[in-house]
Amino acid sequence: MGKSRLEGKVALITGGARGMGASEAALFADEGASVVVSDLRVDAGEETARRVSPDGSVCRFVRHDVTSEDDWVATVAFVLDTFGRIDILVNNAGIFEGGTVLDTTLEAYRRTIDINQVGVFLGMKSVAPLMVAQKSGSIVNISSVAGMAGTPGFLAYGASKWAVRGMTKGVARELAPYGVRVNSIHPGIIDTPMLAAFDDAGVRELVRQRIPVGYEAEPVHVARLALYLASDDSSYSTGSEFIVDGGWSA
Ligand code: NDP
Repeated sequence: MGKSRLEGKVALITGGARGMGASEAALFADEGASVVVSDLRVDAGEETARRVSPDGSVCRFVRHDVTSEDDWVATVAFVLDTFGRIDILVNNAGIFEGGTVLDTTLEAYRRTIDINQVGVFLGMKSVAPLMVAQKSGSIVNISSVAGMAGTPGFLAYGASKWAVRGMTKGVARELAPYGVRVNSIHPGIIDTPMLAAFDDAGVRELVRQRIPVGYEAEPVHVARLALYLASDDSSYSTGSEFIVDGGWSA
């Protein structure tokens, strides 16, 4: 039986085909929201939407490249056509490519910035006019603990996630007078397909040993925080960073 913390609200979750975004889609729908999941991965995205809502009544998928302004226009139009409004945007799509200042190419740096940073900018820019007009809305930007401290080997990724944290604060102050809230989430080590990047180097066990609670998070640990920030339960929070990392950065 579903609960109702997001009753009547409509959410757009980018990069939601799998990983944390897919978990957020399921949790949000269970709490009464109508959800559009967007991603570049069409098969996985459609499967996720079907799993959440077999008849498509509360969850739909749309193909969407977050680096494309045209795609944002089309995606927002799809959400409005399908569910009539947008109350929540989770800017979740992202990539991880490791590299230090010594070995990161300009091309790789720009790729990460384009998806992880420009994608978040375009997302906020695309929904802000609607949210300002309706005088309500919650934008949840997914940063990282790599956006809280310097992380060796995370040059481009860290830069993109610090930018997300910074943009969140600036935009939160810009939109606060209109009833629109913007917060960032900073996950630690979460067990999603992205984490496979660490398997090759065999560092995963080493990483696990550094997590005070002793285990990686499941995507739902992050989804529950996203739910809180998306819902009116967090109505007095804006421009803040919320860490969910099992004590990693304590
Ligand atoms: P996943 O790789 O599991 O999911 C992210 C999804 O976004 C993938 O389906 C990915 O597709 C998609 N995506 C990539 N580029 C684009 C694009 N240009 N447009 C639309 N979709 C795109 O990652 P997670 O669930 O682990 O990560 C979600 C967010 O959380 C990311 O922003 C990540 O940086 C952040 N994060 C993750 C942590 C972790 O430990 N997993 C820790 C801290 C933060 P594809 O697979 O084809 O790239």
